[in-house]
Amino acid sequence: MNLFIKSDIQKFLLGFEKAQEVLNNPTFWKAIASHPGFDNTKISPDEIATLLQETGHQITLEDWKPTELEAITKYRKTNAKTVNKELIHLNVRKSARSIQQIAGTIIHEGIHAIDLAHLDKTFGHAGNSRTGNENTAPYWIGDLVINILKGTYEPSKSFKYFLTEED
Ligand SMILES: [Zn+2]
Repeated sequence: MNLFIKSDIQKFLLGFEKAQEVLNNPTFWKAIASHPGFDNTKISPDEIATLLQETGHQITLEDWKPTELEAITKYRKTNAKTVNKELIHLNVRKSARSIQQIAGTIIHEGIHAIDLAHLDKTFGHAGNSRTGNENTAPYWIGDLVINILKGTYEPSKSFKYFLTEED
């Protein structure tokens, strides 16, 4: 995936840099390919890794500010939102998170964008709550990003879950 960012938020720019760093880290790809399997999909982790590495997908990340009403209702917990296969909205009201968390969110949403680009395949999560979705590709891989950045990733060991609610 080729990610681009247009943002006025310094935290988002730093999170984006960290996300790119992980995408260039062989440990990240090895970890995905060696995962036993994701929930809510028939696609193997190895194939998902291959799809994520395709270079034809241009995905732009943009700032997005829900209205005050939306911010306390519909998008109360939404850190980001994949609009379509080419566009991801980052909620500026949720920028007070760690740079590692933001990087995890960016990759989580990037996986949704790649999923949307392949109409014959699906590897998302069921509902928007993370509970019960820990082992879906967007959550597990998003958490992998955070663990690698925090230095808490060790192959064959279970890792901590960091991501909260994502769209
Ligand atoms: Zn999601």
